[in-house]
Amino acid sequence: MDSPKKPDPIRRFETACRQRGIPVTVQRRRILEAILDRTDHPTSDQVYASVKKVLPDVSRTTVYRVLEMLTDLGLLTKACTPGAATRVDPRTARHHHLVCLRCDRLIDVEDAAVDHRIRPPDLRQQAFVIEDYSIYFTGLCAACQEAEKASRPSKRPKRPSARKAQSPTRRAPRS
Ligand SMILES: [Zn+2]
Ligand SMILES: [Zn+2]
Repeated sequence: MDSPKKPDPIRRFETACRQRGIPVTVQRRRILEAILDRTDHPTSDQVYASVKKVLPDVSRTTVYRVLEMLTDLGLLTKACTPGAATRVDPRTARHHHLVCLRCDRLIDVEDAAVDHRIRPPDLRQQAFVIEDYSIYFTGLCAACQEAEKASRPSKRPKRPSARKAQSPTRRAPRS
């Protein structure tokens, strides 16, 4: 059975291009398609790597430019975390993110209760117009919590081959 599968974003992309007089090229479509099914918020470089598998001749610059274009068209959003590379996000509806401080994983989270509690700051002084917001909750993902637990000495299962590292080797004699 083949589902009539022309995902909405593709249709929105075609419409947006038509409205702006931008040609709908195979390349542009492939780049968008490469992102649509991803929930891991890839970096532009990661998008480039996966697009290259289907379009071996594509250049990094082209991918970057198309990503910018898709963002301008409102088909992608950018997720920015301080100190990390910008990530692309095919989810354009408001949602928030859990950011793992250890592995940089970015996980989508949606909770209407969060939105209800948000009260935009008074920005009359700054003459700033807020268009949208997104909240980043930082912490540790499940995998990293496990890794953290495993690396904690108290929880480490005793292995017969475990090295004893208690006796400090005195190498630099104090003067
Ligand atoms: Zn993690
Ligand atoms: Zn997201």
